[in-house]
Amino acid sequence: MIEIQHNFINGEWSRADQTSENRNPANPEDLVGVYARGGKADVDAAVAAARTAQPAWGSASPQIRSDVLRRVGDRLLDRVEEMGRLLAREEGKTLAEARGEALRAAQLFHFYSGEALRNPGEKLPSLRDGVEAEVTREPLGVVGLITPWNFPIAIPAWKTAPALAAGNAVVLKPADLTPSCAHLLAQVLEAAGCPPGVFNLVMGRGSEIGAALTGHPDVAAISFTGSERVGRGIALDCARGMKKVQLEMGGKNPMVVTAKADLDLAVAACLNGAFFSTGQRCTASSRLIVEAPVHDAFVEKLTAAMTALRIGDPLDAATQIGPVVSESQLAGNLDYVRLAGDEGCEVIGGQRLNRPGTFQSPALFLGAANDMRVAREEIFGPCAAVIKAADFEEAVAVANDTQFGLSSGICTGSLREATEFRRRSKAGMVMVNLPTAGVDYHVPFGGRGASSLGGREQGRMAMDFYTSVKTAYTYAG
Ligand code: NAD
Repeated sequence: MIEIQHNFINGEWSRADQTSENRNPANPEDLVGVYARGGKADVDAAVAAARTAQPAWGSASPQIRSDVLRRVGDRLLDRVEEMGRLLAREEGKTLAEARGEALRAAQLFHFYSGEALRNPGEKLPSLRDGVEAEVTREPLGVVGLITPWNFPIAIPAWKTAPALAAGNAVVLKPADLTPSCAHLLAQVLEAAGCPPGVFNLVMGRGSEIGAALTGHPDVAAISFTGSERVGRGIALDCARGMKKVQLEMGGKNPMVVTAKADLDLAVAACLNGAFFSTGQRCTASSRLIVEAPVHDAFVEKLTAAMTALRIGDPLDAATQIGPVVSESQLAGNLDYVRLAGDEGCEVIGGQRLNRPGTFQSPALFLGAANDMRVAREEIFGPCAAVIKAADFEEAVAVANDTQFGLSSGICTGSLREATEFRRRSKAGMVMVNLPTAGVDYHVPFGGRGASSLGGREQGRMAMDFYTSVKTAYTYAG
């Protein structure tokens, strides 16, 4: 009999009426676990617990919050190997990537352990004689965190840690496909002495419990990462309820390869950016915009490198690309592969592999034009459109011609081109001679346009979202 993993509400493991099985996408026989599938009543209980616990947590000495977050980071560090394996089994990224993500979660808690102590304000002379103006930051209250499946430990960590550091209480709703890592995070928070009700976990379907959280009158703010479609609905819910909202959504990230690029470096950056983590990254390089003089040589080298990638079980150390996360995601990817052919691209790769699990070969769509659907819509799989550009000017224009604006990149040996691109790119993050995916945790993360709304995540700037500014004027007489 497999043990059911419960929700975590008010410091207790709380049974839900229904459960969901979590299976390994590389091996459907492998049951990762059975997890609670909460309903509206569970969300209500979690929000009530958070509301009760928040005032004491928010007004406690910052040393207490800092200590809890440091202990969470320490315990996560101790469990990196275990968490990495769990993550690889439930999401399908390679063990190396999964270990890296688990380590990142620990680092994030350590970073925000420090931020809990900082909480900077400002004191300024008022414009009126004898008056002082003081600007401080206060917690928001109860915040709802809604996370996707593709970074099942890093994203819960990069939302939970700053939210708690700022003195908020949290209700986390992880993706229904990947509850295990969030469950492990709840175990660690409990073991680290996080007071009951300060952190709550409600697992379940977004369609069933999402609205209960985003529409709850006692939730002050929602931080969401996921698809643009769901994000738009959440923005409307939050506007109706006058809640603060932060949305991190999709991307269609361009990588420009100019005639002055080191082609081997460009191929390595595009291979990583487009296909690693099975292309399931919001920052994936999904549009490769290549200047005409180097287009054919680049395509030849990238095709050779792509077809040599080792696809297989994420737990096998030799594997470079694991499975697609689910049957429905794979079906969507294969639809886009067909569409690329229908739209007139030459398609290389993009087949389902004849083995158990949801595996596909990575795909290149050659001869793509930027107005094709395969160049405009986020696919979220190991598929990249290759667009030929006449020159640097055209490449920059194509790169910026997208509704998204998360990450962008350029491979070039020219300082002038790199500087121009950094200045003119309309994305929130710009990479030079690096893949569009892969970021540091101590600097802001986020985009523009349909990719992001409502303030940056990560780094010190994340604290802006989780706090409310107060301006106080004092006349001492
Ligand atoms: P998704 O939008 O389907 O789900 C995200 C979360 O929202 C899940 O927890 C889901 O259960 C929940 N949800 C679903 N319907 C809801 C509703 N009506 N109300 C409230 N919550 C609801 O996204 P996904 O498939 O889990 O993740 C993939 C997407 O996430 C991609 O578009 C990817 O680009 C994006 N993403 C963005 C970033 C970023 O930082 N910009 C990072 C990772 C992933």
